[in-house]
Formats: sequence, C-alpha cells, structure tokens
Amino acid sequence: MRVLIVEDEQELAAALREAMESIGHAVDLAPDAELAEEFLAAYPYDLAILDVMLPRRSGLDVCRFARARKLDLPILMLTARDTLADKVAGLDAGADDYLVKPFELAELLARVRALLRRHSPRKDAVLRVGDLSLDPASGEVLRGGTPIRLARKERALLEVLMRNAGRIVPRARILEHLWDMDAEPDPEVIRAHVKLLRRAISDRHEPRLIETVHGVGYRMNADVQDA
Ligand code: CA
Repeated sequence: MRVLIVEDEQELAAALREAMESIGHAVDLAPDAELAEEFLAAYPYDLAILDVMLPRRSGLDVCRFARARKLDLPILMLTARDTLADKVAGLDAGADDYLVKPFELAELLARVRALLRRHSPRKDAVLRVGDLSLDPASGEVLRGGTPIRLARKERALLEVLMRNAGRIVPRARILEHLWDMDAEPDPEVIRAHVKLLRRAISDRHEPRLIETVHGVGYRMNADVQDA
C-alpha cells in the first residue's frame, strides 16, 4: 500500500518512513502542508500520517483538504499536546485517529494496522488464487499448503496482483503502489521482480498463475481457481 507521511521534523519523518517500509508499504514524505496537498491530489494513497504542527499551515488544514475532496483514506494525526481540545480539533477536521507525541513506533504500527482494518475490512481477508494464498495481516504466503518466503517487494507485488485477480494490472499501477516517486524504476525492474516472484511461487510452467499481458502489465489468472 502507499502511505503519505507529512512531518517536518526530519528525524521523526525518517523513522516513520522506515517503520512503514518495514511492513511493506511504499512511502512518500512531505515536509509541509503545501506539498502534502499536491501529493494527495496527484496520487492514490491508502493511508496518511499527518503531523499537526507544520510550518505555515497546519496538518489540520491538510486533513480538511483531503476530506473536502472526498478522499477516501484513513488519516492518523500526530499531535504534540495531550489536550482534549487538540484531539477534538483533529477529529473535527476529519482524522480517524490520533497519536500524542512522543510515541513508540510499535504503538504507531498497531494504530496503522487497526485503521487499515477498520477502513476496509476486506483488506485483511486471506487472498486466494488457485492453490496460492496470501494473508495480508501476517504476510504468510502458501502454495499448496507449503509456506513460501518472499522478499518485501515480491510480497507487495503478489498482493496487488491477487487483489485484482482476473483483471489486468497495468505496469503504471504496479509502479504507483509499490514504489514511491523517488525510485522511478523502469519496466525492466518490474519484470525482474515478477521473475523473482514466479520463481519463488514455482510458477514457471504453463498454465501460470501470473500471466504476462505484453506491453500492458500482468494478470493473476482467476480461472485457475475454479479448475
Ligand atoms: Ca512538526
């Protein structure tokens, strides 16, 4: 999934990015409200983590901006003061939850998991295509009951393909979901990750679960599921 982190304190921003990336999310960082709103208008995010205290305009403004545009994503606010007024202001602006600084990263990860689960209950359901299953909550991947170890990018790639089983997932969509904008990998990089994924799930023989749609993207073949 793709996460927007809006935080002007560089050290904390870097720690948040690392935490989100460690659980497989692609991350964009914005140090101020202006850039955050630009990003929100341009990219499909699954979650935003918003600091209230930003230079010039506040995180509350960004929150209102997202809600005014009817962006359907959970928003976690980071507030500096543990006062009722601050919490109410965040929730009034459209935030789904808040964390008071300083907080433990473990606490943040727990809140993020809860938000994603609450926001879209089906996002936590085990995904199945044929004899392959992926549990988004635990990250466990099984093929024919045998556990498969996948690297972070391969697991994220598999997840986006499985969530869209039966549909073509264009390369641009894969890029959007798995890479932040600094990375800009070319199609060759996607091809390499698909190759690694196919090898990991032993998908080298026809009929493959992962079908290449030449010049367009990839599709997990849901038909195999019913065979
Ligand atoms: Ca701040």
